[in-house]
Amino acid sequence: MKLRVVVQGAGFGGLELSSILSDTIGDELDLTLIDQNDSFYFGFSKLDVMFGRKSSDAVKIPYSSIVKPGVQFRKETITSIDPVMKRVTTRNSVYEADVLVIALGANYDIRATPGLAECGDQYYSFEGAEKLREVIPRFSKGHAIVGVCGAPFKCPPAPSEAALMLHDYLSHAGVRDACTISLVIPFGSPIPPSPDSSKALIKAFAERNIRFIPQRKVSSLDESKKVAILDDGTEMPFDLFLGIPKHVAPDVVLQSGMTENGWIPVDRANLLTKFPNVYAIGDVTSVGTPKAGVFAEGAAKIAAASIIAAFHGKENTTAYTGAGSCYIEFGKGEVGRVDVDFFSGPKPVGIHQDASAALMADKEYFGSSRKARWFGLM
Ligand SMILES: Cc1cc2nc3c(=O)[nH]c(=O)nc-3n(C[C@H](O)[C@H](O)[C@H](O)COP(=O)(O)OP(=O)(O)OC[C@H]3O[C@@H](n4cnc5c(N)ncnc54)[C@H](O)[C@@H]3O)c2cc1C
Repeated sequence: MKLRVVVQGAGFGGLELSSILSDTIGDELDLTLIDQNDSFYFGFSKLDVMFGRKSSDAVKIPYSSIVKPGVQFRKETITSIDPVMKRVTTRNSVYEADVLVIALGANYDIRATPGLAECGDQYYSFEGAEKLREVIPRFSKGHAIVGVCGAPFKCPPAPSEAALMLHDYLSHAGVRDACTISLVIPFGSPIPPSPDSSKALIKAFAERNIRFIPQRKVSSLDESKKVAILDDGTEMPFDLFLGIPKHVAPDVVLQSGMTENGWIPVDRANLLTKFPNVYAIGDVTSVGTPKAGVFAEGAAKIAAASIIAAFHGKENTTAYTGAGSCYIEFGKGEVGRVDVDFFSGPKPVGIHQDASAALMADKEYFGSSRKARWFGLM
C-alpha cells in the first residue's frame, strides 16, 4: 500500500516537504499537492516587482513544471479541512489521506487597519506590489512611511529592506532630496535576535537619512487628514504609505478548529499538531520562529523526516533547531545576511554578515537552487 499524503499549500513549506518525500519514498508515495494558485513566487520577489526590477511574469514559476515521482499537483481552492477524518475538501473534490500536512501560510487582514485600503498601499500581497510598481514612480516629493500594522508579520527584515530600496529608487530618480522616509516597526531593533544586523541597519538608515521609529505600530490611517496614527496616538502626515498589513491564518484553517490564538500549535520536535498524523509547517503555525520561507523550509525537513520514519515504523530523532539564513537587501546592489538559530541555545542567536555584492550572488543562488530542487528548472 502506498502512503497517501495530502499537502495543502505549495509555498516554501509544501514544496520542500513534497520534494523530500518524493526523493526518498517516491515509489511508495501517493502525494497530492494542492494550491489555489497556478504558480509559485518567492516572497522577496514582491520587492523586485514593486521597485520595477523584475516583471511579474519573470518571477512566477508555474506549478505545471512539477514532475516528481509520487507527486500530483492540483490547482484547487481548499474549502474545508477535517483533521480527525484526515479529509480535505476543495471546490472540485474530496481527498482522504493517511497523513495530512497543512502549509497554507498566512493571509492579510487589510480591513483590520482602518483607512489602509482607502488611502494607503501595501506590498505584502503580489497584487499590492504590482499596484505599487505604478504608484511609486509618481511619488516625487513629500513623506513616505513604511509602516507595520500588526505582529507577527512575515520576514522581519522586509520593512527595513523596503525603506532602503525606496531610498535607492528615489535617489536614482533624482528626487530623494524632496522626499523624507520613515520606518515604523513594533520591535525595539530592526532584527531583535541579531544585535549586529540591527546595528548595521540602523547605521544604514542614519547614512541615508531614513527616520527609524521603533516599538510602534500603525493603528489606522485618516483619509481626510492623510495622516497615519500610531498605537501611542502620534499622528504622522504622509504622501505615500507602504504598509505591512495585519497577518491572519487563512479562513479555512481558522474554521477547521485547529488554531489557538489565531495559529496552529505544533509539537516543536516533529511539527505534529494535536491530531494524529496531521502536521502543520510554516507561517500557519505558532512554532516560535519568525514567519519566513527559510523557517517554513526547515520545518518541512523535520516533518518530512518524521513522516518517513513513521512510514518505516521508526521514530525521527533529528531535533528542529529553528535555524535559517535570511538575506537583507541594503540597496546599492548589496545584500547582508543573518544566520539565526532560535531553539538550539537558551535564547535565539543571530550571526551577521556585512552587506556585499558577493552576498547578492549568494541570494540569487538561494533562489535558483530552490527552483532546481522543487521544479527541476535551471
Ligand atoms: C515582501 C516579502 C519579502 C520576503 N522575503 C523573504 C526572504 O527574503 N526570505 C524568506 O525566507 N522569507 C521571505 N518572506 C516570507 C516568505 O515569503 C513566507 O514566510 C513563506 O512563503 C512562508 O512559507 P509557507 O510555506 O508557510 O507559506 P506560503 O509560501 O505563503 O504558501 C502558502 C500557500 O498556500 C496557498 N493557499 C492558501 N490558502 C489556500 C486555500 N484555501 N486553498 C488552496 N491553497 C491555499 C497559497 O496560495 C500559498 O501558495 C518574504 C515575504 C514578503 C511578503
